[in-house]
Amino acid sequence: MNANPADQQRLLDLHGLDVRLAQLAHKRRTLPELAEAEKVDRRLADLRDVLVAAETAEGDIAREQKKAEADVEQVVNRATRDRQMLESGRGSAKDLENIQHELETLARRQSDLEDVVLEVMERREAAQTRVAEMTVQRDEAQARRDEVNAALAKSSEQIDRDVEAVTAERKTTAGVIPEDLLALYERIRADNGVGAAAIRQRRCDGCQLELDISEVNAVKAAAPDQVVRHDVCGSILVRVAESGL
Ligand SMILES: [Zn+2]
Repeated sequence: MNANPADQQRLLDLHGLDVRLAQLAHKRRTLPELAEAEKVDRRLADLRDVLVAAETAEGDIAREQKKAEADVEQVVNRATRDRQMLESGRGSAKDLENIQHELETLARRQSDLEDVVLEVMERREAAQTRVAEMTVQRDEAQARRDEVNAALAKSSEQIDRDVEAVTAERKTTAGVIPEDLLALYERIRADNGVGAAAIRQRRCDGCQLELDISEVNAVKAAAPDQVVRHDVCGSILVRVAESGL
């Protein structure tokens, strides 16, 4: 294939823009905010689990407290009925004696049950404190995640703008390159990543290998408008001032 040497030079500009686009894509994949977002998301998920567990535990203790309070109430009600019975004076002396005895038992039982209520209340208070602490931590992690997401969006938007600018420049550059030469460049680029490379000090800029003497002679013998390719890597070899030929 033949192409104007100036158009061959433009392939190097195009390659430079393709390198920049690849760098931008790499930058997008490796933004530090991405790793941070992942870390914060993991922490947030953990804290949500811990919070659910703490709330469940608190709920269980709340039910336990209700049950313990109901037990106390039952004993208190029973004692009230017993006292009313005593005050009414109905029943035999033996009955009254039994009731008197039961009241003593109920008083001991009430005291024991009230101790249980107090113990449960203490545990519930601790559980509530834990729920409150975990809620604060969850809220903090959520706020941090919002911050990281905002930073990530900002960095991504900057990359979007850069990609847009480079893409526009690439379109302009590609627009003045003859179609057949451009198609060849694109095909080689799709195959091996580097469509065109300069020769610098007899070295291919694409694969970094030095040209051997027969390759040097072939390039030297080629007319300026002949499109030369590097057999090793397939890139179009572009002759420049520093080629050393
Ligand atoms: Zn090469």
